[in-house]
Amino acid sequence: MKDKQPVDIVDTQNLKIGNDHRIKIRIFEAKNFYRNNKADSYCIVTANYLSEDGRTIERPQKLNLPLMRKMSNPFNNGTIRRKGSYSSTLIDKKSLEPLLGQKEGKEKIKDIQYETKIQPCNSNPFWGEYFEIILNKNFYSVKIELLLKNSLLSFPVGEIYLYKYELESNKEGKVFEIWKPLNSKNISIKKEINENGHSHLFESINDDILHDCIVCENIIQEEGIICSQCHITTHVKCSQNLCNCEACGSIRIEYRYIDYPILPLKYYCKLKDLIVDEKLNIVNLISKSCDSKDEAARDIVAILNEGDLAIPFLSQQCKLEISKTKVPETLFRGTTFCTKGVDFFMKLICKDYLDETIGPTIKKIIKQHRDCEIDPTKLINEYGEYVTDADHVPDENIVNLKECIKMILDSIIESSVHFPVELRELFSKIQDYAVEEFPNEKNVRYSSVSAFVFLRLFSPAILNPQLFGIIDENLKSREVRTLTLISKFVQQTANLVEYQNGKESYMNVLNNMIKEYIPLVKKYINSISRVQHKSVIKQRKRFFGILIRKKVENDMMEEKGKGRVDLEKWFSSVHRLINRNLNNIKKEVDKNSTRFKLHISRNIRKINWTTFLNDTISKENKRN
Ligand SMILES: [Zn+2]
Ligand SMILES: [Zn+2]
Ligand SMILES: [Zn+2]
Repeated sequence: MKDKQPVDIVDTQNLKIGNDHRIKIRIFEAKNFYRNNKADSYCIVTANYLSEDGRTIERPQKLNLPLMRKMSNPFNNGTIRRKGSYSSTLIDKKSLEPLLGQKEGKEKIKDIQYETKIQPCNSNPFWGEYFEIILNKNFYSVKIELLLKNSLLSFPVGEIYLYKYELESNKEGKVFEIWKPLNSKNISIKKEINENGHSHLFESINDDILHDCIVCENIIQEEGIICSQCHITTHVKCSQNLCNCEACGSIRIEYRYIDYPILPLKYYCKLKDLIVDEKLNIVNLISKSCDSKDEAARDIVAILNEGDLAIPFLSQQCKLEISKTKVPETLFRGTTFCTKGVDFFMKLICKDYLDETIGPTIKKIIKQHRDCEIDPTKLINEYGEYVTDADHVPDENIVNLKECIKMILDSIIESSVHFPVELRELFSKIQDYAVEEFPNEKNVRYSSVSAFVFLRLFSPAILNPQLFGIIDENLKSREVRTLTLISKFVQQTANLVEYQNGKESYMNVLNNMIKEYIPLVKKYINSISRVQHKSVIKQRKRFFGILIRKKVENDMMEEKGKGRVDLEKWFSSVHRLINRNLNNIKKEVDKNSTRFKLHISRNIRKINWTTFLNDTISKENKRN
């Protein structure tokens, strides 16, 4: 039977199509790059835009004037933000003003740049940081630069580019992870670098795509060459300033590019019905067959939370996960749809709680700027040699670190009364299920909850306070180390075991402190897993109320602006996710029993409705 398409729900006359246009980049690590002694490393990410006049971009050869790369003022119709795991810090107005004041006639206009943390001297630095850049239609490329920095200066050692024309092969946010070779145009280090690598294998460029010169950063309009091995492009005249092919090391990144329509909320009615369906068939299918558990969990939890359905959904997921776990030690330790879902829900709920508990303490620790290093291999003695022996770590450093740890842990433990009610409800259920499944395990009532609140909330927030919006500024390398050590300690204490003589034996000096804090951590966990006043939870409007909200109310909401949850963005995201994974979802359905197939067939037809939505959008785009 032919699917009956619900044509009547879309009123194409007034269809206002928005656009979700952004790139998410995660910078992992770099290796084999030029290093000099005792320099720290960090990366800078820059987004580039082309001039406002779209036609000049398409036909550069018809222009008599040289094309200039300039920023098309991306602040008019989009925001740019530095993004952590989920929370984001908007770049403030102060940093925008000097950029907006720059004259258009200048050849190079510096775009907004985002920096990673500075990683202390290391041949294989690891950042693991996320950046999310909201783009506009003039987006052209993203540049990632690796820089070295010592007390005197900071200089670039290599860079990579991601171009729009390459990214556009997948606009649905598929995740790519790659090692990309770095290139350098830093002539001062060229001689030293060129002992590595080999000559580029240049060929002349003969396609219609616009290419950038990696050396002068202008668009190549004539005599361009491309290396068939590393794929860099450059002017013939600029090529002598380049370092050898594969001589500059490489960088590992993950990226996803999104350019996807957002419809007005009312058009997502059918999709909403599918997601909140009481048996959650579609949600379960997505959770099993989606290529990005992280994204799926986040979108679905955000939508369910608007309908007050996140807690029942997540406790169900946790119950399932507990029943599948064989050894209590591994409970909630893996990255699954369930753990990612609870992870995101905590970040959604706990923003203020984190700001009020560890927030002030972390700021205080940064301000004090005390040396807390206790790893001997990272300490240098008065003769400029590495300490290497744990006995020679200065007592003062140990005392400093202990004081910082005490401040952080006390601020957590003393805050249990302020712990968000929504999470208490979830944690009390998780604790009950875990104790039921493992009745003879004394510690499971603690470890089941600490796997979330300590290992997935406090510990990462202490390690990366910028990502959780706790601080705005970039950390100095001393504070990076201090917070890393505190985070390790919190993690160990939350595991309820002392340090054994493992590979980080320098942490053994903290064992007495761990013993001291384990009972306090247990007490804290018990206290946040208890629901005291159930009636405190505010009942919000359920979905239906949100979706059929009167027009007047809608306008009022838009005027208020702040505090409004962008539900349509989440729906657009789920729609994109389903589209990207449609084949996998269908395969997953086929694996099931005939009865399930019959039951789900009606819903699958509704998933096909996403095709209808796409048709509507493409028709609309043609009309414009
Ligand atoms: Zn090459
Ligand atoms: Zn050039
Ligand atoms: Zn090679």
